[in-house]
Amino acid sequence: MRPDERDKFLSSDKLGRPLHDLRISVTDKCNFRCPYCMPAEKYHENYDFLKGEQLLGFGEITRLARIYTSLGVRKVRLTGGEPLLRQGLANLIEELCAIEEVEDIALTTNGSLLENKVEVLAAAGLDRVTVSLDSVDDAVFGNMTGGRECLPDVLAGIFAAQRAGLAPVKVNAVVMRGNNEEGVLELLNFFRGTGIIVRLVEFMDVGTINQWSRDRIVPYTELLERINRRWPLESLEKNYAGEVANRYRYKDGQGEVGFINSITQPFCTSCSRARLSADGKMYSCLFAAEGLDLRTPLRKGATDAEIRSLMVGKWIGRDDRYSMDRAAARQAKKGDRIEMFYIGG
Ligand code: SAM
Ligand code: SF4
Ligand code: SF4
Repeated sequence: MRPDERDKFLSSDKLGRPLHDLRISVTDKCNFRCPYCMPAEKYHENYDFLKGEQLLGFGEITRLARIYTSLGVRKVRLTGGEPLLRQGLANLIEELCAIEEVEDIALTTNGSLLENKVEVLAAAGLDRVTVSLDSVDDAVFGNMTGGRECLPDVLAGIFAAQRAGLAPVKVNAVVMRGNNEEGVLELLNFFRGTGIIVRLVEFMDVGTINQWSRDRIVPYTELLERINRRWPLESLEKNYAGEVANRYRYKDGQGEVGFINSITQPFCTSCSRARLSADGKMYSCLFAAEGLDLRTPLRKGATDAEIRSLMVGKWIGRDDRYSMDRAAARQAKKGDRIEMFYIGG
């Protein structure tokens, strides 16, 4: 067997899934307090977020990313917490961009700080941006962000990203029963005809603190029916195998809408993502209880080959399929999962 064939084999997990995507959390801090992610009651002003030496430096992140590419990673997404709170993010993007095997660098952000930064980020090599925005109604936006009043800044950030050439900009909206579900059509209407793609995300039971319950999800089929009644839709092919969103186009030519249905249509069978937390732990699933510490060996002088072997061990032992198990009601108890702002959404 040729070495590159062996590597391909090595980087498939127990369910035969290759490693292709890496989500890097650059901070666990955030300037929002979305109730489904970091409820304000728990994440108060004195909360002990990671700081200083606890965080991986850009050189450390880049080194790990480079090693990950030798296992198959080709796409990188920067996330958090709010990634734009990390100073000098453009420098990290530049460093990641210099890794030849990295074909695509994306950013997930709440958009509040995007407008003034996006040109520099694009110039540094950022390819794509996803902005999380749950409502275009000021009051509902406030409810969904822990009382923030910066909806105009988020909207300005979205259009600035489009002008900076990061098209198509995607807007992800988590839909929660009784919170923002009534505003979904208004949100879609706002972006129809702009080239910006809105994707509606089912509220997930990630972490332990967001009071998730099944009756707070608005299932995709229900949203699809409502939207289709107002603006007839037709389904589109996936852009690539393993794309998580179900894509539709408005028949009147006003653009595209997507659905990310982690609850009602889990996509674990094609999940090719590893996650790296801001303090250097590797997670093999959004719902994982434990991560593999890479920071300690990194700082103790481990070689690339040693670190690679740790990563390979984690990936080949991976049998995570939490969302599919949830669908089959076999999931682990609450209380042994990691929060999403920490692991990186
Ligand atoms: N702060 C950035 C942002 O909001 O885009 C990046 C980090 S955030 C954790 C990444 C994504 O996770 C956001 O789109 C957010 O809406 C989503 N998210 C967080 N908690 C969620 C939940 N319980 N269910 C579904 N999506 C969630
Ligand atoms: Fe912050 Fe993003 Fe979590 Fe909202 S979803 S609290 S913006 S990390
Ligand atoms: Fe991937 Fe875990 Fe989500 Fe399944 S539940 S799609 S394995 S991150």
